[in-house]
Amino acid sequence: MKQSITILGSTGSIGVSTLDVISRHSEKYKIFALTANNNVDLLEQQCIQYQPLFAVIVDESKAEQLEQRLFSRGLSTNVLYGQAALEEVASDIAVDCVVAAIVGAAGLLPTLAAAGAGKRILLANKEALVMSGQLFMDSVAHHQAKLLPVDSEHNAIFQCLPDGCDNNILLKHDKGVQKLLLTASGGPFRTCPLETLEKVTPEQAIAHPNWNMGKKISVDSATMMNKGLELIEAYWLFGIEIENIEVVIHPQSIIHSMVSYNDGSVLAQLGNPDMRTPIANALAWPDRIESGVAPLDIFAVGKLEFEQPDLARFPCLRLCYEAIKTGGSATIVLNAANEIAVAAFLNSRIAFTSIAKVVEETLVDSTIITDISSLDSILSADRAARIIAEECILKHH
Ligand code: NAD
Ligand code: MG
Repeated sequence: MKQSITILGSTGSIGVSTLDVISRHSEKYKIFALTANNNVDLLEQQCIQYQPLFAVIVDESKAEQLEQRLFSRGLSTNVLYGQAALEEVASDIAVDCVVAAIVGAAGLLPTLAAAGAGKRILLANKEALVMSGQLFMDSVAHHQAKLLPVDSEHNAIFQCLPDGCDNNILLKHDKGVQKLLLTASGGPFRTCPLETLEKVTPEQAIAHPNWNMGKKISVDSATMMNKGLELIEAYWLFGIEIENIEVVIHPQSIIHSMVSYNDGSVLAQLGNPDMRTPIANALAWPDRIESGVAPLDIFAVGKLEFEQPDLARFPCLRLCYEAIKTGGSATIVLNAANEIAVAAFLNSRIAFTSIAKVVEETLVDSTIITDISSLDSILSADRAARIIAEECILKHH
């Protein structure tokens, strides 16, 4: 039986890499649904190649266009639009596996729908977990969904943990795990003079030295907000205290993360920096399949280096540590403010260095609520923080 797959965000960087892996194994996988925000051209091409049962485009005005184009090619793919349709194709009874690859808070509701329907979830979207960690993990447990991390660091940790130590159960088992070592490249501005950061352009910020990714996560990597969000992601995914997760700068991006054990062993997962490896691992788990990634040539790599992160250079990382300690809605506010600030930076409305300032000011100006056990409370904290972040931008930046 082929696994039936929905890819939320199929036109993005993770979506395209996932389809590349799937296309190498058409005997194992079939596509149930593909979804995009508004990229009709690429979604059309993907529908032609993968013939999904459903294609969802969020933008209603684009749906008709897509429908006509697919019809004129004689394709039987059903075109849906809107937020509710994303949730439908993530939870349909005919779906085995959902790839959560929408960027940002927009991924929350469809990913939660997949959890609520007990799906196997390949989780790339880290923002959903940052916003709703407890609620999301509770839903996964309650509905017996299976979470498989796609984020390269979390997938590496997943591979280095003892069998069965996934889905938030690490703390409940004494398997000798002492620390998770989360590696980070340090991004394009790891060594540049601090005073030059003010003038960094969006083009420079999205030019990551090792990884080819979507714009938002590329900017997050340059500010190291990405690593902070990943700390929060690891905290929820693996159920380990934040003090036991250490960020390690490793400029070569060959080790994707490590697990340190009480007998002195440190297990690491290595590979070329190509997301098709963690995607293939999560797709086929517990088996392994070919991903299209070239074998690692460790002689060409030559040496691996490690440094401690500089919190003065990367204030976003400090803000993430602080938000986790504050708890409650602080990480929701942090995530929302960051999305607003990154979009403003990409539109050349604010300086690169203002991203952290907007996030910090939004955290100071927001009322942090402690009870975030309902989806409503999470979504209203997110909405309120976006308004405050916009005000900060208008006032100061
Ligand atoms: P991307 O910008 O390349 O693609 C985003 C996808 O989400 C697109 O298909 C887009 O159509 C869709 N989308 C955007 N806004 C939407 C909305 N409002 N509603 C519905 N769909 C929407 O992003 P990406 O780099 O592929 O990243 C996707 C997620 O995976 C992010 O959460 C990111 O943090 C995570 N991730 C990415 C990488 C990577 O290498 N790109 C690595 C690890 C984790
Ligand atoms: Mg990552």
